[in-house]
Amino acid sequence: MPKVTFEIVTAERIVYTDDVDVVAAPGIEGQLGILPQHAPLMTMLQPGELMVRKDGEEQSIFVSGGYLEVQGNKVTVLADTAERAEEIDTERAEEARRRAERRMALPPDQVDHARAQAALLRSLVRLKVAQKGRKRRIQT
Ligand code: ATP
Repeated sequence: MPKVTFEIVTAERIVYTDDVDVVAAPGIEGQLGILPQHAPLMTMLQPGELMVRKDGEEQSIFVSGGYLEVQGNKVTVLADTAERAEEIDTERAEEARRRAERRMALPPDQVDHARAQAALLRSLVRLKVAQKGRKRRIQT
């Protein structure tokens, strides 16, 4: 079966790299599905879940936003931050969620609501991605 090379990197590390069957990514204009031999593409990503499938196995990856490029038969994601589902510290994400919710409840002159909302969104997506990772491990 034809594959597409996929790599997701941050300033700090390579989060994931492999030859896979399909990549689904949260583009700023909607969900993107990328199969082998996809046309060249450049787009920004929004905070969300990135999914890769290889030989029937799925891997969920949290991405906080960044840039995706398809060039040749390779998909490259440069992410601000990213974690594979099993790397997510759910306690930390829960704490980030509570902190963001507390800040959202404060009057706008005391806190940056947009920043709190962005932190809330990151925490909720991390929790969702971590949960999916756990479910998959239980099933297999
Ligand atoms: P926090 O308030 O907990 O730092 P955040 O959303 O502000 O959350 P980021 O700025 O997105 O954090 O990430 C900073 C660094 O911490 C990155 O390297 C990211 O991969 C890592 N990180 C953040 N939250 C988690 C988590 N719940 N589990 C694992 N790594 C995390």
